[in-house]
Amino acid sequence: MSFNAIVIRKDESGYRVAKEELDESTLPEGDVLVAIDHSTINYKDGLAITGKAPIARIFPLVTGIDFAGTVRESASGDFGPGDRVVLNGWGVGETHWGGLSQLARVKADWLIPLPAPLTTRQAMAIGTAGYTSMLCVMALEDHGVEPGGGEILVTGASGGVGSIAISLLAKRGYTVVASTGKTSEADYLKLLGAAEIIDRATLSQPGKPLAKERWAGVIDTVGGATLANACAATRYGGVVAACGMAQSLDFPGSVAPFILRGVTLAGVDSVQCPMPRRLKAWERLAAELDLDQLEAIATEIGLDEVIPTAQQLIEGKVRGRIVVDVN
Ligand code: NDP
Repeated sequence: MSFNAIVIRKDESGYRVAKEELDESTLPEGDVLVAIDHSTINYKDGLAITGKAPIARIFPLVTGIDFAGTVRESASGDFGPGDRVVLNGWGVGETHWGGLSQLARVKADWLIPLPAPLTTRQAMAIGTAGYTSMLCVMALEDHGVEPGGGEILVTGASGGVGSIAISLLAKRGYTVVASTGKTSEADYLKLLGAAEIIDRATLSQPGKPLAKERWAGVIDTVGGATLANACAATRYGGVVAACGMAQSLDFPGSVAPFILRGVTLAGVDSVQCPMPRRLKAWERLAAELDLDQLEAIATEIGLDEVIPTAQQLIEGKVRGRIVVDVN
């Protein structure tokens, strides 16, 4: 049986990406075969598809770091045919064929049951980005940041992680300040629950080691000078959850906020996140995320539109989340 997928190849003709028809016999080893319903384009997929960063580690590679679908065959006792499943990370779409595809064969250990009451489309509207937003919220909570305790800054606010973080935080009663380069999206960010919108230009240039204390907590998706400035303006004992690098991988900051104000810099990783925390994050997403707002955050495309959309995403032109109906 054949299936369609977005494939990255690198050989004497160079690095190239195309939608291809593949034969099922070419799928990698794994104990579960999944018929994929929906996938998505995350920032990392954008980097892989455009070749802007060395995300693809094997060639050819079916790209896509996550998917949601239905088990077709299983050699694992944990999943059987007909089970609906979700996968995020674990190197899928990097070192193992991924989710921008109609079929995937993966290890059962990487799968989680689709959390009720989500559909596969909703699970991919959330995707790795939204699951990371929840990991960031959990990082703030773990360090004692509570609703009513002061303003929370969310950077890269109109992006996937940022949009879902705003929605989750506002629903829990936090006061959210959204930093964006798309000030024209102010109405969208307010609809998600942002109390105030700031222009990201106010944060993106190198600043002082310490600034006036403002943030009780920060969810930073962009890194670089923005992350350093966010730390510099975090209040005594506050927490900065750092998960992204859309501005830069650099951290041109000072230790002053950490040693003079007891600020915590909490790193957030979704790829190798242990299964119990992963399940907790998804359980909470299913219970807490406003599904009407998720609809407003998501735009659906087909496999044919993946490559140009990935380019736009890397250029910072995409709002919210992209769901890919692979069929
Ligand atoms: P998106 O592309 O959806 O959003 C990124 C947003 O960052 C953009 O929409 C834009 O928001 C802002 N941005 C883009 N370029 C710049 C720039 N040069 N300077 C400042 N801000 C910029 O990506 P995601 O939300 O999916 O991912 C965000 C980041 O989080 C990425 O770096 C991604 O790799 C990382 N990530 C990390 C994970 C982990 O496990 N640690 C998991 C998932 C994502 P605006 O226009 O509103 O400013």
